[in-house]
Amino acid sequence: MATYLELHCSSKLRERIDAALSLLESCSVCPHSCGVNRLAGDVGKCGTPREAMVSSYGPHFGEEAPLVGRHGSGTIFFTNCNLRCLFCQNYSISQLGEGQKVSKEELTYIMLFLQAKGCHNINLVSPTHVVPQILEALEPAVEAGLHLPLVYNSGGYDSVETLSILDGIVDIYMPDMKYDDEETARELSGIENYPEINKAAIKEMYRQVGNLKINGEGVAQQGLLVRHLVLPQGLAGTKGIVNFLSKEISRNTYVNIMAQYHPCHKAFQIPNLGRRVSSTEFREALSLAQEAGLSRMDNIHTTEIL
Ligand code: SF4
Repeated sequence: MATYLELHCSSKLRERIDAALSLLESCSVCPHSCGVNRLAGDVGKCGTPREAMVSSYGPHFGEEAPLVGRHGSGTIFFTNCNLRCLFCQNYSISQLGEGQKVSKEELTYIMLFLQAKGCHNINLVSPTHVVPQILEALEPAVEAGLHLPLVYNSGGYDSVETLSILDGIVDIYMPDMKYDDEETARELSGIENYPEINKAAIKEMYRQVGNLKINGEGVAQQGLLVRHLVLPQGLAGTKGIVNFLSKEISRNTYVNIMAQYHPCHKAFQIPNLGRRVSSTEFREALSLAQEAGLSRMDNIHTTEIL
């Protein structure tokens, strides 16, 4: 049973929605804390005013195995992002605004549609800047019978305050850990304090949901699943990240160390990002994770390079 059903029964879901909506007035939904009034239609760094935008939705079979199961993960790709990664593979969605505005009612419909399709979960892709809009749509969806686990699939630049609103609502957190080095994060994603904010967010997510729990059919029910994309020349700081997970989160953290980096968007402007990750670099990243004591690693994206 999805955790939000309990909150809804005790009427606390409404309180969380109100708390989330209040963050829009002088926006502090994410750590940028732009202070713009999104309720009045103003936009901050994420370029998103009052209404959320969606670029696509549907059952997705390319996600991690425990999310996909037999019937797919019910992905909703939100337009815009609070990061500006030079190498983003979805930059037309995340940075060029590809997508359509969706009302609360439309977002509710999408969630129910994905459940009716037989998906195992509702996978909210790039949800950070639209948490209030998601919660608003969740309530009527629950009243109409939504019961699937919610997956919060973010770039990992999330504020602890907003995450605390999601405590008891999100079942599965799937954040990125992109960088271990502040300077690199600033250069490649235009972001301040990424490592510090990212690590605090991961701690809060783990506090809420613990390690990933997978049922007898191999489908994730609750917990933390961390994604780490290996970059050329060690730019992602894999060693620091796997050591953090092992020492400060849990050696049982479920981790997807990803090999599929390929240059796109503005990556060719950065000399070290103009090529794919070599098999040697990727093997080294896996070895670092093993040496750190991590053993629960997703392998769907590893075979193409090994
Ligand atoms: S959600 Fe958007 S407007 Fe709000 S603080 Fe973050 S980037 Fe700024």
